[in-house]
Amino acid sequence: MDRLRYRIAPLHPHAHRFEVRLAIEDPDPLGVQVWMPVWVPGSYLIREFARHVVCIEASAAGAALPIEKIDKHRWRCAPAPAGAIVEIRYEVYAWDLSVRAAHLDATHAYFNGSAVFLAVAGREHEPCAVEILPPPAQIGAQWRVATTLPRDGAVPWGFGAYRAADYDSLIDHPVECGRFDLVSFDVLGVEHHVAITGRHRGDLSRIAIDLARVCRQHIELFGAPPPFRQYLFLVTVVGEGYGGLEHRDSTSLLCSRDDLPRAGEETPGERYRGFLGLASHEYFHAWNVKRIRPEAFAPIDLSREAYTRQLWAFEGITSYYDDLALVRCGLLREAEYLEMLGETITRVRRGHGRLVQSVAESSFDAWVKFYRADENASNAIVSYYTKGSLVALALDLMLREATGGARSLDDLMRRLWREHGLEDLGVPEGRIEQLVSELAGTDLSAQVRALVHGTGDLPLDVLLAAVGVRLGLRPAFGEADKGGRPRLTGATTAPRAWFGARAGADGRLAVVHEDSPAQRAGLSAGDQLVAFDGLRAGGLEALLGSRPPGCVVEVHAFRRDELFRCEVTLEAAPADTAFLEIDDQAGDAARQARAAWLGRSEAERA
Ligand code: ZN
Repeated sequence: MDRLRYRIAPLHPHAHRFEVRLAIEDPDPLGVQVWMPVWVPGSYLIREFARHVVCIEASAAGAALPIEKIDKHRWRCAPAPAGAIVEIRYEVYAWDLSVRAAHLDATHAYFNGSAVFLAVAGREHEPCAVEILPPPAQIGAQWRVATTLPRDGAVPWGFGAYRAADYDSLIDHPVECGRFDLVSFDVLGVEHHVAITGRHRGDLSRIAIDLARVCRQHIELFGAPPPFRQYLFLVTVVGEGYGGLEHRDSTSLLCSRDDLPRAGEETPGERYRGFLGLASHEYFHAWNVKRIRPEAFAPIDLSREAYTRQLWAFEGITSYYDDLALVRCGLLREAEYLEMLGETITRVRRGHGRLVQSVAESSFDAWVKFYRADENASNAIVSYYTKGSLVALALDLMLREATGGARSLDDLMRRLWREHGLEDLGVPEGRIEQLVSELAGTDLSAQVRALVHGTGDLPLDVLLAAVGVRLGLRPAFGEADKGGRPRLTGATTAPRAWFGARAGADGRLAVVHEDSPAQRAGLSAGDQLVAFDGLRAGGLEALLGSRPPGCVVEVHAFRRDELFRCEVTLEAAPADTAFLEIDDQAGDAARQARAAWLGRSEAERA
């Protein structure tokens, strides 16, 4: 029998509190120490889960045992009588409807182990038993349990006994209890399940068919069989929401009701493509980050920040493959994929932060910058997701070009899988960069260094030309223009003026761009626009629709409660909006290279 035994109960759904009991056999004779993670793997922000522990007590041999808090996330019990089992009972407040923590009410219970389970100091490597109890009968008589924690007596989808090989494993299998919908499918002999919580009218069979194609695509990239015996998508549907967190055998996804496909819907809309992209992303993580891990996460220290300059690879490469898999398995057409790629390039080009921070620096500082983005974020931070995915694209195209199509990023991922994933060996800093030159058979280190550690724009125009794709840049047609297309229907071709700021519907400036007319005039994020040229300010969009570049606008605005006046000289909108087009003049070699890259026969891609 396991010497560490957890029992978790959704005891007070209306108060959003789980009760957890932890029995510890053979406790440290000097007194047991327990601790709570301060962050959850996959989300690089100190979250201090211990702050939600609302009460805690300990006992041994039928008597209370003193327990005291010794720092923000640790407790120490007094020594227990010899031979006694120490039991710690505590309650955890769970009211965070995200994929990262825990949430409990009368409709369902969801938790990540890192938000609810105390670790026993020095015994993190021991296996443990976990009993998951149902809520009070009047609330949860029809509830079921969805988790990839190995069952140890519980019936499938039932409450009861589960177990985990160690603490890391205990907290890497999130648990959903409630009245979820369930759909299952098989991929190359491996069971996959989707459990959907929340009100929705999604077409379950459609979701299963499409996800099966995505999963198969990823498995075949790395080589069957996949590294798990089953896989579970835990989906929570809300009115408006978005998020995902990867786990070794499962993922938690948060999506909007309208992201799911309706029965009878013919072609997947943009929102459903977004949902498939998110699911694809988290599934790819089962290899890239859960098993191919940065050295800094092997082992992982959950009591403090774990610094790595490689999140661009673990998140960026994953972000590259999430949509690439959709086009390769036929869920996206080539033109749709290129449009999405154009949007990604646009997102990066519109942030001045790309000229200030490299993706390696963005990775390292994720804890204090990317995850704590403020009004200056776009000026100072580059996303290791978006730019990271473009670095991955650049590496892929560089490898293909250098080897005449014999090698690609797919080969690099398989090397990482064989040498690091299967061997459970962390990836050292610089290893991925080194592998690029190795696979290319030529020294690409200077080019790779520029991509990862540089702040210049990526040479995507040249690299894409080799696969017969032309990268164009133009000014935005308006606030709604996300890029990706050469032109928008109904958009005027007259030169557009640029103010250089973004305002909310209430006229308050959310962002003032670096080196922009608004910044030069002295406007700041938080300023409340009041009037343009003496008339009550409408939106910035209306202003720019009626003034040419070069026009001087008198602006009245409030900063805090103080009215001030300034003059903004509008400039011509910068060419920060990217779109990709197939170059019909490109030769056969480019066309074949493109077919190999997007992974499908030309007939299929039509
Ligand atoms: Zn990710």
